[in-house]
Amino acid sequence: MAVDLHIHSKASDGTLTPETIVEKANRLGLSTISITDHDSVASISTAIDASDTLPLTVIPGIELSSVHQGRDAHILGYFIDFTQPVLQQNLDKLTASRASRAGDMVKKLQAEGLSINFGEVAAYSNGGAIGRPHVAQILLKHGFVKSINEAFERYLGRNGPAYVPKYVLEVTEVIDLIHSVGGVASLAHPGVAGISEEFLAWLKEKGLDAVEVWHSDHTDQEIAHYQNLATKYGFLATGGSDCHGEGKSRGFVLGSIDIPDRIIPPLLARSRQVKQLRS
Ligand code: AMP
Ligand code: FE
Ligand code: FE
Ligand code: ZN
Repeated sequence: MAVDLHIHSKASDGTLTPETIVEKANRLGLSTISITDHDSVASISTAIDASDTLPLTVIPGIELSSVHQGRDAHILGYFIDFTQPVLQQNLDKLTASRASRAGDMVKKLQAEGLSINFGEVAAYSNGGAIGRPHVAQILLKHGFVKSINEAFERYLGRNGPAYVPKYVLEVTEVIDLIHSVGGVASLAHPGVAGISEEFLAWLKEKGLDAVEVWHSDHTDQEIAHYQNLATKYGFLATGGSDCHGEGKSRGFVLGSIDIPDRIIPPLLARSRQVKQLRS
């Protein structure tokens, strides 16, 4: 059976509710999924409840952005004890700084003559982690751009006039935070970020547990490459579609990659080890 361990819901920048994700994953015959929202665990208990009567397991997950020496690294956490206060405190800090950053982006857009306000961006994000995709959506709604992509190219991209950098943790802080709540840390989409072998070797020393071998944006060569590096350095393998729902860049790609369920038992075993070490 197949699994999908990288899915975004409405709690971050996805379009799907946790109930819909569970229902669709079950209909596709997946055995295990993980909802890995950016900086949010708000969808997890709803997803677990929705899977209660189904032959589908929901692993509590999260995706946290981080940086190391100017390089971005997205870290996925699995089997996290998502109710622990230390996690929520960190997420609250990240969410608050995302909100103030969105406010700064709105001000910059207003200075460009685009009349949008922070309230509508916040409302669109539904109380979740606000990001550039939400700002882009409001620009589209007002007709200031014709597509989300145009919003990024003209305004919100790294060189755009409304770009504001996001506050992120150092990669080692993210790995430690995931471990502190009993989770397994996996490096997301290394092929997309062009992660080097040298950086992977360094991350191994810092306690990274796994690498996301399968991902929608990975070519067959990248899958083979990161599978080989995972074996070489003793990382576990994870994989997921990174589905953000319909109308998002990849479209509805949930369950579209054949990721074997044999990856689950080693992840579970690793999370038990982490939890034992912390107790
Ligand atoms: P943020 O975390 O707020 O900086 O937003 C980053 C998110 O924006 C990524 O996770 C992507 O989902 C989305 N994104 C980045 N570039 C583009 C683009 N050119 N078109 C559409 N979405 C994008
Ligand atoms: Fe995203
Ligand atoms: Fe990511
Ligand atoms: Zn993602």
